[in-house]
Amino acid sequence: MKPQINGERLLKRLRDLGEIGALPGGGVCRLALSDDDRAGRDQLVHWMEELGLTVSIDAIGNIWGLREGAECGAPVMIGSHIDTVATGGLYDGALGVMAGLEVVAALNDARARTARPLAVAAFTNEEGARFAPDMMGSGVHQGALDLSEMLAVQGIDGATFGEELARIGYAGEIQPKTLTPAAFLELHIEQGPVLERDGVRIGAVTGVQGISWTEFKISGQSNHAGTTPMDLRRDAGFVAARIAVEARAIATDFGPPQVATVGSVTFEPGLVNVVPERAVITVDLRNTDDERLKEAEARLNAAAQTFAEDEGCKITARSLARFAPVAFDEAIVAKVETAAMARQLSVRRMPSGAGHDAQMFAPNCPTAMIFVPSAGGLSHNIAEHTEPEELIAGAEILLDVSLDLLGEAQ
Ligand SMILES: [Zn+2]
Repeated sequence: MKPQINGERLLKRLRDLGEIGALPGGGVCRLALSDDDRAGRDQLVHWMEELGLTVSIDAIGNIWGLREGAECGAPVMIGSHIDTVATGGLYDGALGVMAGLEVVAALNDARARTARPLAVAAFTNEEGARFAPDMMGSGVHQGALDLSEMLAVQGIDGATFGEELARIGYAGEIQPKTLTPAAFLELHIEQGPVLERDGVRIGAVTGVQGISWTEFKISGQSNHAGTTPMDLRRDAGFVAARIAVEARAIATDFGPPQVATVGSVTFEPGLVNVVPERAVITVDLRNTDDERLKEAEARLNAAAQTFAEDEGCKITARSLARFAPVAFDEAIVAKVETAAMARQLSVRRMPSGAGHDAQMFAPNCPTAMIFVPSAGGLSHNIAEHTEPEELIAGAEILLDVSLDLLGEAQ
């Protein structure tokens, strides 16, 4: 008997998990290491044990359940997260973990013995909504982030990460960097509008775009809006405005996949009739190609310097975050495409616009992701939605690719 996804069982687990931390108007709030996160973890561990998995918890609170294979080497790992932002949806992260459990259930139903072991994992604090940075659990697991530094992180509510982790009972003993999977797979909602808009059902994710955040601080001179001649102004606000326009021009000139966003601008003193003395502006640049991203950064920085000089202002630039683009494993991306075509599901290769746990694994083991459509492209929103048949289709592709990677026991 070939293992089969039981769609109803997958949907029920998603619903049951979605009741933990459910918000009155729909959606869910399970901020990392909150009481609701603990309740979600307890439920997950219960399900893993029910499915016969051996549960492990590491020192950053990552949870994984292992199903043995005929061989005792590194497992194929299916992972994502069950923490959410404060106004999260039911499927961001949860789908990847619940579909992982469903793959195990399908293998169990079919009494399938695989060559490799299979692990299903939920990584701590992927969202970074309460404790920065995001992708913390997977980052520590794969050695990109330092465990003791992360345990000392203060949350937006003043709580300390390590204390909260111990409080909810998920400070495990396994040290990070001890497990490199044979391969890593993550099924996730797209969190963008492309698949729905183009009527494509499966995204074969080729990688995660690089991210560069820069904060510019500009100082000029505040002065009277009526009496100061235009040629004598040192207007920090005007410099910030030119930077914002330049960011858009860079995205337009470079073309897709380059994007540029000015998400925050503040002026001081911020009054209607005063030339701003100080301005702080942030620019978020993203591209799948690191060379192009570096070109975009260089053009933005050079332009910002020129704009400040033109206006007689001082400017400083500070990098707030930078992640190089990540490329997923070509062979597994091709397997995702092949699996979708075999099931007559339309499929497209695409980069991920958002960060995901999978990117922490990509440098260390063959990794890929599967996307399913997000209604209206909405995510990090209580109205986040993916149709049941799309959730099930994604799980079926996850099963097919997992079986391929796990191999049959001899
Ligand atoms: Zn997510």
